[in-house]
Amino acid sequence: MEVCCQLPVLPLDRPIPKHVLIRRGAISLCSSSALFGGPAPRQLSKRRGAVSYDSSDQTALYIRMLDVRGRAKTGSESKRPERQELHTEQYCDCREINYAAIAAANSERPVSVVRNLHRTLSLRRCSNSSQPLHVSPPENRAFLLDLPKATCMLKRLGRWNFNIFLFDQLSDGKSLLGLTYHLFHEYGLLDLFQLDPLKLRGFLVMVQENYHSQNPYHNAIHAADVTQALYCFLQEPKLSESLTSCDILLALLAAVTHDLDHPGVNQTFLIKTNHYLAKLYKNTSVLENHHWRSAVGLLRKSGLLSHLPAEDRLGLEERLGSLILATDISRQNEFVLDFRARLERSDLDLSIAENRHFILQMALKCADICNPCRPWEHSRLWGRRVTQEFFSQGDIERTQGLNVSVLCDRNTNTVAQIQISFMSFVVEPLFIEWTRFSDTQLSQTMLRHLTLNKARWSRPDEADQEEQTRRSRPDQSKRT
Ligand SMILES: [Zn+2]
Repeated sequence: MEVCCQLPVLPLDRPIPKHVLIRRGAISLCSSSALFGGPAPRQLSKRRGAVSYDSSDQTALYIRMLDVRGRAKTGSESKRPERQELHTEQYCDCREINYAAIAAANSERPVSVVRNLHRTLSLRRCSNSSQPLHVSPPENRAFLLDLPKATCMLKRLGRWNFNIFLFDQLSDGKSLLGLTYHLFHEYGLLDLFQLDPLKLRGFLVMVQENYHSQNPYHNAIHAADVTQALYCFLQEPKLSESLTSCDILLALLAAVTHDLDHPGVNQTFLIKTNHYLAKLYKNTSVLENHHWRSAVGLLRKSGLLSHLPAEDRLGLEERLGSLILATDISRQNEFVLDFRARLERSDLDLSIAENRHFILQMALKCADICNPCRPWEHSRLWGRRVTQEFFSQGDIERTQGLNVSVLCDRNTNTVAQIQISFMSFVVEPLFIEWTRFSDTQLSQTMLRHLTLNKARWSRPDEADQEEQTRRSRPDQSKRT
């Protein structure tokens, strides 16, 4: 199918809200601003500045994977609803992946559950600015803080053994929303940046809902887990003493959105299937670019930063992209080697903005792959989830007659093997450098868990258990 790579444009020519016009405290975030120079964050709340609005900046790039669950069942019927919507939305290169049939063939879950996995990856062009983008109706925005058990857990948010799975249950599946909203309040970011609480909530609702809950691993709970881990790192003395409020705002936004709209397959899959996103981003950091541009789209759609000067918003969006792009695992060696070299040169003066940004990149990378450094029960669950996602991709590849990607073949890999390799070659080198940078009790705890978890995965009983799980799945090689 011919791929249309024309970028979609989302008009944002809404009038300036009244509550923004009457504000006195819009803070300039331009590069000349003292915000980037690192003043004490508390002083910023006393600043007063004029609100400016760049009327020329009225367009936004917005790309997202469209979830068409529940629209149609099979065959040609499945395309009808999309055609009917073309008068208001244009779709390009809708590449369908029948997750339902494949998952049903492999999963032990009931068909009624896996049927909901049917998903179309689509480039959506919004031609109508009033078109809602996956925003829940107001009654669905009942907030986490109405849930006392979840609220109680927030007191322990800074602990490394925080149970994100339990928190997600207690927060009625809104862990990412509740956790992030709490952190924005804790850091005083609403006052410091004059953020509208309703816009923040609307933004976070959209973020939460634009993660794919059907993904075993790359879903909103993973984003919440990464945000919680990053919060732990932000508490470390070297960071807490040097980061500005702008750094913290960016770090939280990056953690929350770093896997936004993840399709549950990796870049290799998108390239080998000629997916339009691979072409759009020229086979380079395809998913990370998509997460970043999706995050920018939701930021603009929500109007969360619309009261800031356009130059400052664009600067924030660029830095957000730099943080999210750093999570590309194919650039792991590049970052680890750079980190090591800077540490050896003692070249990490955190009063310099560029160095603080680099440390935030490293902190986000650590948070993103910290699962093996968590307590065993959590670590094991994450290990199983990510492997399940890998194997699902491998099943799709096998069914479509494609070469099964590395680590994605359930017939030749085990959870234990994948985890041990990942720990040894990816996680350990990064966390060793992080500990050199920040040799604290938390860093030592993480390394201790890493060592214990690797030993646990190596135990025969653990390997046997995982092997039984793997073998209990249908043998797909016999089906193709
Ligand atoms: Zn991630």
